[in-house]
Amino acid sequence: MLRWRLSGINFSRMNEPGVPTPAMLRSRGRDQAKLHERAANAARAKFGDRVFVRAVVEISNFCREDCRYCGMRRSNRALTRLRARAEQLTELLLQHTPASVTDVNLQAGEDPVAAREVALPLIRALRKETDLGISVCLGTLDPALFAALKDAGATVNILKFEMADAENYSQFSAPGTLAERTETIRYLAATGWHVSSGFIEGLPGQTEEDLLANFSLARSLPLRGCSVSPFIPGEETPLADARTGEAEVTLNCMAALRLMRPDWVIPAVSALNLAQPGSGYARGLGTGANLVTINLTPPEVRKDYLLYKRDRFIMTEERILDEIARAGLTPSRQSLAEYYKSNPVNGAKAPHAEQRAEAART
Ligand code: SAH
Repeated sequence: MLRWRLSGINFSRMNEPGVPTPAMLRSRGRDQAKLHERAANAARAKFGDRVFVRAVVEISNFCREDCRYCGMRRSNRALTRLRARAEQLTELLLQHTPASVTDVNLQAGEDPVAAREVALPLIRALRKETDLGISVCLGTLDPALFAALKDAGATVNILKFEMADAENYSQFSAPGTLAERTETIRYLAATGWHVSSGFIEGLPGQTEEDLLANFSLARSLPLRGCSVSPFIPGEETPLADARTGEAEVTLNCMAALRLMRPDWVIPAVSALNLAQPGSGYARGLGTGANLVTINLTPPEVRKDYLLYKRDRFIMTEERILDEIARAGLTPSRQSLAEYYKSNPVNGAKAPHAEQRAEAART
């Protein structure tokens, strides 16, 4: 009964414009090349040849969560826990941010202490001294802390829903519950943040139906962007022996997202290069991705920010600029934060209206 109902929903959605079909996610060869080209053209129609370049700085690997897929999970006793000093990072960012970088993303395990003691002063200093757009990816924090981060000058919040099925979400011990995570996303958007989310392709046991459900959830949320990352088994996690996600499927998901939402900011994640050594990243840009990331975490602490595994693939400015040029694209001079601000979604009401329509259909 349940299966019938679920496949019924998928079938009706297959005919809806913009919603990916199983065939899209499976495509290979000529069909796949055409799919990626269509997606890349959709991005160009909306963004021209511009790609946003954002630096990521990891500010703490302390984490109160225990996600089974993540190396920073609190049960990982093998990890040396570090919290950066605000002054050290302020100096790093004021002195050494590469010229092409227009935005900074401060990322951490779920560590409210780091959000308060490292992120806040750092954001204030950056707001005072630079034009850099400021994003945070710090997990689910309490409303007062979110408000303080926004008052300090951060405008973009990255909160990935990780996977769209509540049961799987709890099986993987992802943060809180899926309902809380999506409520937080809605709360952030309602309180003036530009919110980006994301999901993981290729988690152990993920079915095609699970994968497709991510698109339905993403389109129902008030988002300005969304990422797809291939699952990378982390050494010190319960999933250490699981298989890596499939780069081809991740790329097809990225193309499908682009066609579903031509105006979203979709990153080419560096994990693509782990899933497909040598060419993953460039192919990400070929699916219409329009954001790239340069890792500026100080090298001496980088080895301990183990999202996934020992040989994290680090993109330097040189490598990034090279990939952008090879894809026939150019780094955007306008920051992502500025882009969001000057291109509001239709009154920011559209996603909610669509959400209601979606609810009425199902
Ligand atoms: N504490 C923050 C940031 C978490 S780390 C938060 O809760 O949002 C940033 C992202 O890394 C996660 O949201 C997750 O999508 C991704 N990630 C973690 N482990 C991963 C893995 N093994 N493979 C792929 N992506 C992973």
